[in-house]
Amino acid sequence: MSSNTNVFEMAQRQFDGVADLLKLDPSVREFLRWPLREYHFRIPVRMDDGTIRVFQGFRVQHNDVRGPAKGGIRFHPAETIDTVRALATWMTWKCAVADIPLGGGKGGVIVDPATLSGAEKERLVRGYIQQIWKNIGPRQDVPAPDVGTNPQMMGWMMDEYSKLVGQYTPGVITGKPVGGGGSLGRTEATGYGVIINVREALKYLGLDSSQCTGALQGFGNVSQHAAIGFVEMLKGKVICVSYWDREDRCSYTVSKSDGIDPHFLISITDQYGTIDKAKAKAAGYAVEDGDAWISKDVDVLMPCALEGQLNADSIHKVSKKVRIIAEGANGPTTPEADAVIRERGIFDIPDFLCNAGGVTVSYFEGVQNDMNFYWSKEEVLSKLDEKMTVAFHAVLDMSLNEKVYMRDAAYMVAISRVVKAMQLRGWI
Ligand code: NAD
Repeated sequence: MSSNTNVFEMAQRQFDGVADLLKLDPSVREFLRWPLREYHFRIPVRMDDGTIRVFQGFRVQHNDVRGPAKGGIRFHPAETIDTVRALATWMTWKCAVADIPLGGGKGGVIVDPATLSGAEKERLVRGYIQQIWKNIGPRQDVPAPDVGTNPQMMGWMMDEYSKLVGQYTPGVITGKPVGGGGSLGRTEATGYGVIINVREALKYLGLDSSQCTGALQGFGNVSQHAAIGFVEMLKGKVICVSYWDREDRCSYTVSKSDGIDPHFLISITDQYGTIDKAKAKAAGYAVEDGDAWISKDVDVLMPCALEGQLNADSIHKVSKKVRIIAEGANGPTTPEADAVIRERGIFDIPDFLCNAGGVTVSYFEGVQNDMNFYWSKEEVLSKLDEKMTVAFHAVLDMSLNEKVYMRDAAYMVAISRVVKAMQLRGWI
């Protein structure tokens, strides 16, 4: 069994555990364990040298009972149908826990986008839409960017779809560039959403955020805005961030015991999230090894880079001082580490709640596209705050009422909402 097969089996196992807690009917379980629909297709692309290359593409719609399927399109050389199925399943739970009227979907192409020229990428994304356009749309399935795809590629996809259906249809896709149908606030949304969750968790634990410290893994889109939010919204101190150094091919932790200045660090960070460590050192920052962020004596640990970072080995390095783990990344905690976090009583904000700010503002983008009327950044971020705060408290209430851990509570909230919509629509 490949490791990718395991990803979907893992998603199914997580679901089975909560289905037991919820005592779900066997037929409902069987239905929700699998995607509703999936499309496999081949995309011929003319390369710059005149030859034709054929790429394998997928789109999976796990569930659309609460609204159109929603989820990114990933371009990756190791993409498989099982990865796409797992990610589509998790999108169903993420949209449900955030209580946005969307379902779960995901797409992928087996390709290393770094090997393509700009023109080849454009022909590939247009080719993707030519294969799938009849099965997506603002009322069917709304894709977005993911690993290996970006706002410009979403702009090309929206253009191709609009040409095929014969009318401007910005709502077919989200994550478009601002000025090309995108929403203000989308860039900040995931990181700010992490901090709104942290703010509510600190209040619940009775901790004064201005006296709290944090450590972040990563310094890309999510982490940069989480760092700004921690310092500016919570008035707390971020002691360190870590990053992957593309030149040295290893990771580093950049720290300052009296608190980093996120804006300064962003000014010396490239578009891939690599910090210029010479400039950081010159400004008085310490540059330590890449794992140092995990063992810092902080109140809040925020893994915002990669999956599997809190695992059977690393979890034992987490300081006794840590009160909250806020999972900004997707899947940063392995089941072994999860068991230790439960045992130690650390307050965990699970990934699909913690990082749901991104998909929430994607939903706002679709709403603005439908209205053809665009909100200010302040309006977007204030609506985000309201949605995330309500989502956090729905999960916390479930956790307290049912005496379950936050991750189980988040699954219980999400799955119950999907099952309820299935009942209301007469599917079950
Ligand atoms: P990004 O590519 O912008 O940044 C990733 C950062 O992680 C970079 O600073 C990189 O240097 C760092 N990094 C990579 N490997 C590392 C390592 N071994 N050690 C330390 N740092 C390392 O990515 P992003 O958009 O910020 O996404 C981060 C995570 O959040 C991913 O798991 C992603 O799936 C998840 N996520 C992102 C969004 C979003 O809106 N961007 C939404 C939901 C979830």
